[in-house]
Amino acid sequence: MSAAPCALPSALPPERSRVHLPLLTTSEVRSFLRCRRAHHYRYRLRVRPIETSAALRFGTLIHAGLEAMWRAWLEGFGGDDVLSASLDAVQAEADAFDRVKAEELLRGYYLRWRDADLEVLGVEVEFRSAITNPATGARSRTYDLGGKIDAIVRELATGRVLIVEHKTTSEDATIGSAYWRRLRLDPQVSNYLVGARAIGHEATSCLYDVLAKVSLRPYKETPDPEKRFVTDKVTKLQRLDARQHDHDETPEEFRARVRASIAEDSEGYFSRGEVVRSEEDEQDAAFDVWNVAREVRDAERGMRFPRNPAACSSFGSTCEYFDVCSRTAALDDPTRFRVACAAHEELSAARAD
Ligand code: SF4
Repeated sequence: MSAAPCALPSALPPERSRVHLPLLTTSEVRSFLRCRRAHHYRYRLRVRPIETSAALRFGTLIHAGLEAMWRAWLEGFGGDDVLSASLDAVQAEADAFDRVKAEELLRGYYLRWRDADLEVLGVEVEFRSAITNPATGARSRTYDLGGKIDAIVRELATGRVLIVEHKTTSEDATIGSAYWRRLRLDPQVSNYLVGARAIGHEATSCLYDVLAKVSLRPYKETPDPEKRFVTDKVTKLQRLDARQHDHDETPEEFRARVRASIAEDSEGYFSRGEVVRSEEDEQDAAFDVWNVAREVRDAERGMRFPRNPAACSSFGSTCEYFDVCSRTAALDDPTRFRVACAAHEELSAARAD
């Protein structure tokens, strides 16, 4: 039985409960800074597109597999049971070739990190923390900071507690690349360290755990059989061109290629590095959150949600509300959009508020 659809909320600012303030998450902060109109649609009206991008769907597959693998470690499973739990979590209804890529990435990840010197303390750990003004210590009366930490671990050699953040990327993610340099400014690390401490884990830094996406694609049959052959320059005889194919590649043939690619370059596919924050970094991040929380409040009070056309298209993808802003679709079109039951569906605390 499908759940009853959620109703479109009032356009008025969210009500403040006496018990809990509404949560502001790092994703929400990013959304607000990118475009206030998109933030209003997504987090206040809770309107979400029904169709999600291929990249997002693949990220969801990997995240489900990683969560199951880390939960298995948390619960003391060993050996093949950990990998089996992870592979079982990859959705059966996903595209067959995406499944192959996800399963082989998870297998490679397991082989690379199964002997890591870590004790898992928690998986998918939610937090709620006060937002405070670092200059005065005043607490926000409008929002709390919320989020969900992928994992919390203890490094066995040193006893240090670290938060873990999994990411998948199509960029070069080898240590020292631009990808890693950008993390100096990443607000998520600072916010999640604050969140971990708020729930009693004295985390000192973040173990950033990156999986590079598989860029291989399944081979397609060469339509013209004559083009499958080339003439050898030396013998002048015709031979099969290795780049041409006499049939579409099957998922299992594709699996063999993906597995070989990952085995050849495990370090390129899987990298981990520690991202630290100085006291100054944390203070800068706290000011950022405090100021954005005030700006969100002011935007809601004034009912002002200006568009930012510079953000309509970035990194090769178009904003999910572009057709609404360009007046070729309506927010209340049920074939295009749904209304989420909570602004932060991924957080149980937010769903309960
Ligand atoms: S389409 Fe552009 S202006 Fe409209 S919500 Fe998205 S980013 Fe903002």
